[in-house]
Amino acid sequence: MSYDPEQRRDTALALKIKQQIASKGPMSIAQFMRACLQDETYGYYRTRKAVGAAGDFITAPEVTQVFGELIGLWSAVVWQQMGAPERINLIELGPGRGTLIADALRAARILPNFIQAISLHLVESSEPAREVQRVTLQECAVTPSWYDSIDDVPPGPSIILGNEFLDVLPVEQFVKRDGQWRRRAVAVDGNERLVFSDVALNADAQAFDQMRAADSAANGAIMEACDFGALLQSLIERAAAAPLAALFLDYGHDSTQIGETLQAVRAHHYEHPLTSPGDADLTCHVNFRDFTRQTNAASELAGIELAIDGPSAQAQFLGALGIIERASNLMNANPEDAADIEIAIARLLAPQGMGTRFKAIGLRSAKLPPLPGLSSPAPVPIVADGAPAGSNR
Ligand code: SAH
Repeated sequence: MSYDPEQRRDTALALKIKQQIASKGPMSIAQFMRACLQDETYGYYRTRKAVGAAGDFITAPEVTQVFGELIGLWSAVVWQQMGAPERINLIELGPGRGTLIADALRAARILPNFIQAISLHLVESSEPAREVQRVTLQECAVTPSWYDSIDDVPPGPSIILGNEFLDVLPVEQFVKRDGQWRRRAVAVDGNERLVFSDVALNADAQAFDQMRAADSAANGAIMEACDFGALLQSLIERAAAAPLAALFLDYGHDSTQIGETLQAVRAHHYEHPLTSPGDADLTCHVNFRDFTRQTNAASELAGIELAIDGPSAQAQFLGALGIIERASNLMNANPEDAADIEIAIARLLAPQGMGTRFKAIGLRSAKLPPLPGLSSPAPVPIVADGAPAGSNR
């Protein structure tokens, strides 16, 4: 840990959160994350551009154009698998700088009928990010529309993309004390500083109850649970009306683990999650095993079957889509950039880095064939001890 865990900055949002805690008591970790990321006035994703060299972190589409291009070709194949409908909603959740979709649309030009069919919908909560996306996409063959929520996107056959979107969804934490699980919370100590504390669990900890299998966990152990319910509900309602395919890529693990992954990044450096509310990006690793469980439970409840493909390691997914061939073509066409391209591709595929820490998972209407590049999930243990591996941002 290279940062000072004791450091607290009195950001405008820190003051607001402290006031709220003084009047209403400790705040759950999910409430704290939601405030830090989405507060109307001070939330990180309301006020920031976040992604890119001048932002706080770099993502795969910013590492190389090949990433977005492969996802564009993936989308074109999925459109064909749907029977090449005349109109297709291409929806991106959290498009960052718009780089992925710009690269995707450029690569997909080899299928002009696909380009002509596209209605492009961008779901983005940050106004500054929308501005950047507008500029990135101004030359692009398709005119985008912006939305606050996927629920506002018109119905119809849909291909949905989300790179590093699941990891911004708020996560609850639970901590074991004297043999009992309690909800981890953010409180204010006697010196007016934000600190972690914990409160009794109440009935709404159902999601945690379902995923919990670790009653043998030692005192002090922490577990995390993300409620994907609202997103899944939107996808299920959409799939009930028309064919749907969704692709999510994110860093995370494919088992339910003990340990916490909440992290804060500001200006490319890690810091303690309580240091700069509103000024730092807060994320958690995605629990793909629990995402799968929640998808199955939600689709069963709704009586609408959503099939799941993957998760696959990012290296495996991009390899199956032909990243090596595409990168070689690009290097041959641009010999002066060959060394940089090679470094960028190696970064996305690194066995100890993004290649395995990032995973791809697909959801689709059950009638569609399996989505390209994603193998069926392999059986994995429900609970593995040990803290999840660090992220590679
Ligand atoms: N997909 C991009 C950016 C990932 S960062 C890339 O790979 O580079 C997360 C993105 O989601 C940002 O664009 C952020 O502004 C947006 N975002 C965060 N929370 C959101 C929410 N609740 N609804 C819509 N967009 C959100």
